[in-house]
Amino acid sequence: MNTRLHYLTTFPGILDAYFNYSLPGKAVSKGLISYQTVNLRDYTQDAHRTTDDTPFGGGPGMVMKLDPIVQALQDCRQPNSLVILPTPKGTLLTQEVVHHISSYEHLIFICGHYEGVDDRVFQYVDMPLSIGDYVLGGGEISSIVITDAVIRFVKGVLGNQESTQIESFEDKQRLEHPNFTRPATYNEMGIPDVLLSGHHQKIEEWRKLESLRWTLLLKPELIQPDSLSKNDLQRLRTIKASLNRTIDSLLNNYE
Ligand code: SAM
Repeated sequence: MNTRLHYLTTFPGILDAYFNYSLPGKAVSKGLISYQTVNLRDYTQDAHRTTDDTPFGGGPGMVMKLDPIVQALQDCRQPNSLVILPTPKGTLLTQEVVHHISSYEHLIFICGHYEGVDDRVFQYVDMPLSIGDYVLGGGEISSIVITDAVIRFVKGVLGNQESTQIESFEDKQRLEHPNFTRPATYNEMGIPDVLLSGHHQKIEEWRKLESLRWTLLLKPELIQPDSLSKNDLQRLRTIKASLNRTIDSLLNNYE
């Protein structure tokens, strides 16, 4: 299935730059995804091709006008489209949301600027999405963030589709295990011996243990107590014992 992407924007060049390189570039040239920028200025009626205006009630900044967006949507929206509005007011983008979005064949992104888009735009949107609790200058960057997460799930985009399954957040809401590559020693820093052993079962077990350990240390809230298998419980005991040893040896220095 070819995933089609439309971007309603006043800065098409930002999207063109993204789709020129790396994974997205290859996906476009292989025909796995296709993208189209829709210049909102082409949907204006005035000589200056104005897409923004001052806010009613006064105040700083400009607000993006609704009409060019609604007209552009009328041209590109289809029954199977999902219309996404990147906005700090939207649902937070998570890997679960990415999965959901990647099931659509056609995504339309509305890229806001300045103070954002006239609020009545929400009437025309299927999914307002925030990429985090901070404010960017424009919706092209947030649309690219969403796109970059989504296209990894389009069949054929990644050389090895298995990579999406062992990624952080994919396996029972865990962070991924650490990864290393050559050289095995760098600035006197080595890597765990097991990774050089060639013993696939032991490597697999080490990865599961480290995935659990780093999730516990960095994002314990991801771990659902009822998702722990018998093997996970054993791994938790191993992690606890090793942490206890580290803590005991630190305390010994002071006691
Ligand atoms: N005045 C708006 C507010 O306070 O909610 C912020 C507008 S922001 C300067 C301009 C545009 O950047 C937005 O319309 C949106 O397209 C994009 N943007 C900024 N922060 C974002 C975020 N956290 N998630 C998604 N898009 C964002």
